[in-house]
Amino acid sequence: NADEPFTNVPNTDFAIRANRQWIEELVDVWRGKTFGTIPMQVGGVEETTENLSQGLDPSRPGKVLYRFANGDASHVELALQTATSAQPTWEELGVEKRGQILRQFAVVAAQQRGETIGIMMGDAGKAVSESDAEIIEAIDFAEYYSRSLDTAGWDDGTTSSPAGVVVVTPPWNFPYAIPAGGCLAALMAGNSVILKPAPETVLTAWHLACQLWEAGVPRDVLQFLPLVDGDDGKKLLSDPRTSIVVLTGAYSTAQLFRSWRPEMRLYAETSGKNSMIISSAADLDLAIKDLVRSAFGHAGQKCSAASLAIVLRDVYESDQFRNQLRDAAASLRVAPSWDLSADVTPIIRPPHAELKRGLTQLDPGESWLLEPKMIDDNPCLWSPGIRLGVKPGSWYHRTECFGPVLGIICVNSFEEAIRIQNDNEFGLTGGLYSLDVDEIETWRESVEVGNAYINRTTTGAIVQRQPFGGWKHSAVGPGAKAGGPNYVAAFRDWTENALPT
Ligand code: GLU
Repeated sequence: NADEPFTNVPNTDFAIRANRQWIEELVDVWRGKTFGTIPMQVGGVEETTENLSQGLDPSRPGKVLYRFANGDASHVELALQTATSAQPTWEELGVEKRGQILRQFAVVAAQQRGETIGIMMGDAGKAVSESDAEIIEAIDFAEYYSRSLDTAGWDDGTTSSPAGVVVVTPPWNFPYAIPAGGCLAALMAGNSVILKPAPETVLTAWHLACQLWEAGVPRDVLQFLPLVDGDDGKKLLSDPRTSIVVLTGAYSTAQLFRSWRPEMRLYAETSGKNSMIISSAADLDLAIKDLVRSAFGHAGQKCSAASLAIVLRDVYESDQFRNQLRDAAASLRVAPSWDLSADVTPIIRPPHAELKRGLTQLDPGESWLLEPKMIDDNPCLWSPGIRLGVKPGSWYHRTECFGPVLGIICVNSFEEAIRIQNDNEFGLTGGLYSLDVDEIETWRESVEVGNAYINRTTTGAIVQRQPFGGWKHSAVGPGAKAGGPNYVAAFRDWTENALPT
């Protein structure tokens, strides 16, 4: 009901016996399932082609879960034509009706929670609790965006109109919540959408698209178009009929997109090299608990993950810090996603060059507090690694590895800690652990990140309460954050001075 104020959906509590039983039965059903061939959906119809790619299960090396149909240049053209002609009717439907469809999506997503968890477990190697959190976020996006701003003036066309056709290109690390957020915001604002899924997690994106259609989004308003060939992607993104491109991915990808079409309206959440400062005034037990969660949740494959801790010397040199941190990370259970006790699940694919270096090679002056190991002969399954003695300006300080590895930098003062935290081309999330109010104030005023977190994890932004988006090279675009008040409005064109604040 749109009249009720927005509230966040709570996480499922798997300590409750009924929930535990539900999830155990679910895992039995979904573990080991395969999924046939995933079609694309352009021009209002489903279609498969000869050009098929494979969907793989990171928990089972070499296991093909499904195949998916790839589009080519002719599908790109058809998708653009269809999106362009379908969009005006979708806008004419009006804000109220589009809002209802978004809220209907929330209902469908809640009803199919188990199925969605089952799909992500195989497709993305995601742990149950992490998958559950994505579903919650998607439901929150739908409920929030459907009522997130004063939409007065939207329907009369005098102050604003939809941007047109939005292409959503999500990542594989949040294969459900992130595409959901992009599609829902663009759709709410009256645009048509072409969803180009991440090639690693096409099944999850397909499942999301099916839920959106089931909720009432017309099939020509939301189209589904996997493209593995870079030239086809370039054609889609560079075409002048594409009004906005939504990207979550590497900074280099955003630069590539820009090189294709310099005037591209790009809303991108890009790379990060996020750190957490642990001051001498930190509650160390809590700091270590949240640092470990921030670094190794979803095997460190979050843009928001803490890959560095910047620690004041007295803490850094204490046995308590080192022993407790090592033990906390070493006691995490590293296992496939269907193992309900797994804390660290597989990485999506065997380590790329930078992650491999992060997991296996130290620089001068560094040592392992905990050395990462490959588990069960699965090149995707790695136990957590912690590098001590990371030097400011070193390779590890500068490089986003995107996996289960954490580096520790030792500093002599709180000021130095802030300086090193800010000495970074990226600025996505940043954390501070301190109980000192003066330190907290100083830090709030000087930290250069989009999401600044005090005495909590650096991951897990919450819709409305902690809108998510970066600073510096971690963001490109309108300045409106996902899950925040102006995000939907950013998908419309506004007459001068009419943009709501
Ligand atoms: N929104 C997620 C979080 O706050 C991160 C998204 C990402 O990794 O791209 O943890």
